[in-house]
Amino acid sequence: MRIDIITVLPELLESPLNHSIVKRAKEKKLVEINIINLRDFTNDKYKSVDDYAFGGGAGMVMMIEPVYKAIEKLKSEREYDEIIYTSPDGEKFNQKLANQLSLKNNIIILAGHYKGVDQRIRDYLITREISIGDYVLSGGELPAATITDAIVRLIPGAMSDEQSALSDSFQDDLLAPPVYTRPADFNGWKVPEILLSGHTSKIENWRHEQSEARTRRLRPELLKDEGEN
Ligand code: SAM
Repeated sequence: MRIDIITVLPELLESPLNHSIVKRAKEKKLVEINIINLRDFTNDKYKSVDDYAFGGGAGMVMMIEPVYKAIEKLKSEREYDEIIYTSPDGEKFNQKLANQLSLKNNIIILAGHYKGVDQRIRDYLITREISIGDYVLSGGELPAATITDAIVRLIPGAMSDEQSALSDSFQDDLLAPPVYTRPADFNGWKVPEILLSGHTSKIENWRHEQSEARTRRLRPELLKDEGEN
């Protein structure tokens, strides 16, 4: 899989995509992640990629030409399954969408900035718009890193067995059960006995019950047969 992220702030993406599972997935060649500096696609001597909004008003707009050139260059080199724009008004990112995107081969993520990108890019080049939540961040770099991390950890082989993504929250529409580690007794705060019993099947049942109870308590709408979905 290949993920190309177009950004005006490459530095913001360096750390989040160079540690832990994402780093290991890159080392195992399960994914190639390229950070593309939008400023490499402008002829402006100050390397600026923003301009005033037609019609006036506060804030600058990401210019159409550098973004067009960056996307067209990538498209001339390979086919893309999705060209994603991160946007607060996009479809809400969730585990189902992460699962879908993890099955793709080539993805571009355009991280927006300023007041956003010239609408014509969205109208003519973008295939999908994704929001990571109902709040506004300064730029699309953290959303792009969030989306990339959520996708990459689902690629088969990215996680070791004991970290398996299948036991994470939202797979099977359930929240994950509580987890504990040593010591079994910390200042009198005890780990549930069942987890120390060694009975694998009983432990599995207990975890499933805990998942259901937690989901019912915190996110009842996920339990489709009981919620309103
Ligand atoms: N004027 C835009 C609006 O009100 O929808 C917000 C622009 S925001 C300051 C700059 C960029 O950050 C956006 O173009 C988008 O790429 C990114 N961004 C901000 N919040 C986001 C969110 N919740 N999800 C995805 N991207 C976001």
